[in-house]
Formats: sequence, structure tokens, C-alpha cells
Amino acid sequence: MKIVIGKCFFDAGEILLQYRPVWGILTGVRPAKLAMDYLNRGYDHEAVKAILREEMLVNPKKATLAADVALFEKTLADETTPDTCSVYISIPFCPTRCAYCSFVSYTSPKLLALIPDYLVKLCREIDETFRIIRENGKRVVTVYIGGGTPTTLNETQLEILLSTVANNIDVSTLAEFTLEAGRPDTITNKKFEIAKKYGVTRVSINPQTLNDEILASIGRRHTVEDFLRAYDIARSSGIPHINTDLIAGLPEESFQSFSKSVDRIIDLHPDNITVHTFCVKKAAEILREGTDVYSRTGGETGKSVEYSHVSVANAGYRPYYLYRQKNTVGNFENVGFCLPGTEGLYNILMMEELHSVFAVGAGAVTKLVSADRTKIDRIFSPKYPYEYLNADAPTTADEKSAEQIRRFFAEDLSAGK
Ligand code: SF4
Repeated sequence: MKIVIGKCFFDAGEILLQYRPVWGILTGVRPAKLAMDYLNRGYDHEAVKAILREEMLVNPKKATLAADVALFEKTLADETTPDTCSVYISIPFCPTRCAYCSFVSYTSPKLLALIPDYLVKLCREIDETFRIIRENGKRVVTVYIGGGTPTTLNETQLEILLSTVANNIDVSTLAEFTLEAGRPDTITNKKFEIAKKYGVTRVSINPQTLNDEILASIGRRHTVEDFLRAYDIARSSGIPHINTDLIAGLPEESFQSFSKSVDRIIDLHPDNITVHTFCVKKAAEILREGTDVYSRTGGETGKSVEYSHVSVANAGYRPYYLYRQKNTVGNFENVGFCLPGTEGLYNILMMEELHSVFAVGAGAVTKLVSADRTKIDRIFSPKYPYEYLNADAPTTADEKSAEQIRRFFAEDLSAGK
């Protein structure tokens, strides 16, 4: 019934607006999860593509993308046992604010001054969370430090953070340990030396575009040169895997400019390339300035997205994870590509909700996933660092949350019996 009603709206919309969304009647953020559900129900790869095309009215290229990603992720899904989990650590601070950002990241000098206090509370929460994880018989397989921009921390602060993780787990047993280092202007040799010393296996350096004028216009303080310098630092640090993010559809960026960025990134041969589609949410600075960034069809963005997908595939990369967001230009998607054997595991585990993710820090959301993956409970930490620092603010590690976690896994265990 849902599909029939969806198709009716879709057809009416197409007649009224002369526009056919590439993702058909799908509105969720996880098209690959839907495709994986069909694979798990016994449909083969070709049949899943046909269902997406014919039932969900998904454009054939996007149907193939979702089915390919699902097939790739299924192997990891089948190997992921319920005793495993991941840990996410939130550092919601950045050196400056990008014009399109709607995230709660703190950027002003006054708010950046909260970092030392934030770090003290965060490290206590990390200790407690690892204790709760052990008590519940879970085994951490990936740790992801995200933001914001975690490398906004200075070298001493970064060492305090990473050593806290290393005091709680033998980092050599982790399948993956990611440190987001999104803004090239925050990267130093010393920071990556520290990251390597404490077992980081994957860093993310995000130029977004290799066009200096666009970088300046979107409020990023770094240049293309800064990105190339940061990339060299990462390569020479010996950290095994590097991800780079690009954004298709940035305001003022033409297809020609974006395709040049794609080509230059491929020449660098990073392990992962993530291609996002530009997304503006209500809070972003760019909307307050009245810029018209929305276009129903996305202008040249579709061509840019298509070019990036074909070019990275020709260079030996394959799509390994996929998600959609509201308010993206042209309603396109975000796709992570990897060279064989370098996929970002946390991204798949988290995106497809394959096991529990214990999240610490401001804005973090812990997701408890039952063994059969049909039940998910969430624990929300305070959104802003300022609230998080409030002594009474609830976190994943406080007594009430610890009790919720114990109860969830105890009930899950007895349901399994
Ligand atoms: S780096 Fe990311 S989180 Fe930080 S201001 Fe820019 S978009 Fe926002």
C-alpha cells in the first residue's frame, strides 16, 4: 500500500513539476540498508536492482549503486557478531565556521577556550564508557574520533585524548581507529606523529574542492596548497589509510572546476574518496545571507556527481557506503569509495546499524542495537559543549544510562534464548 501511494504521488509530482527525482519514491537516508534487507530475504543482486527500479522508481544508475553497496556491505554484515561494538568520540570544535555549516561546532575564541574543561570531562566519560562496554561483555572493534574537527585540539590535548583511549584498550586489537582531521589548517607533523604513536589507522583530510576561490567563498581558512601539504604530512606519518572528502554542487562551483578537483584527488591516490552532495540546512550562514543555493534539478550537480562516480571507478575505487541527507542540491547522495581492502569499517557499521555504537561527548548519540538488529535504543548526550559541561548533564556514562544499557542487553540476551 505504501509503495502504491508513493507511486501515485510520484506520478502526480512528475506531471505537475516536470521533474523526476533520481531516488524515486525513496525518502530515507539509507537506501543501501533497504537493498540489504532484500538481499537478506533471498533476492539476488539483479532482483534487488529490479525492485528498486520498478517498484521504487529509482533511476537505474542509482539502483545499481545501492545494490552494489549493499552487496559489498553484506559480507561485513554477515561477519559482524553481536558481541562487537564501536566507540564514537565527539570533538565539536572547529578553527572557523564554514558558511554552509549547520552543525553545533564551536568556533569563536571564547567558546574554543572551553576545550580544556571539555577534554577533562570527555576523558572521564571515555574511561567510564569503556568500563560499561566491558561489563556488558562487548568487544570494541572500531573507534572513530569525529567532529567538528578533532585536530582543532593542540598537540598536548590530542595526546591526552589518544592516550586515554589507549589506556582503555589495546589499540593494536582494533580493526580500525579513525581520527578526522578535516581542516588542513589544523594539521601538523607532530599531531600525526602522536596519532600514529597511539594506533590511529585512518585519517580524514577534507579539501571539499581544489579551487581556492570557492574555498574562500565558503569560509574555509585553508588553500589548496595547505591541503596538499597536509596530505603529504599524512602520507609521511605512516598512518595506513587516508580519506579525502569532496563536495559536489558547492555554490558557484562549475562542473569544469569540480571535475578538475576529482582528477587531482585521484592523482594523489588516497585510500578512500568520499563524494558528498552539497547540503544546506536551515541554520547555515549561507542561508542567512540569502544565497539561492537550492535548485530542484541541481543544475550541473548531477553531471558533477556522475563524473566523480565514473572517474573514481575507472581509477580502481568501488563504492562501499552510501547515505542521503535532506536538502541536498538536486536530491543527490553521499558516497564513500575505497581502493580494495581499505573501506572505512566504522562508516559501514554505523550507517547500516550492524552493531551498537557507544558515543561520548557533546552531541553524541549512543545507539544500542539488538543481536538480531531489529531493535535500536538511543541515548542522547547534551547537544552543545556548554550544556555538556554542566555537572548535571546526562551522558552515556552516567548511572541512569548505564542502567539502560544493562537492561537493554540483558533483555536482548533473554529474548535470544
Ligand atoms: S569543518 Fe565541518 S563541522 Fe566544522 S565548521 Fe566546517 S562544516 Fe562545520
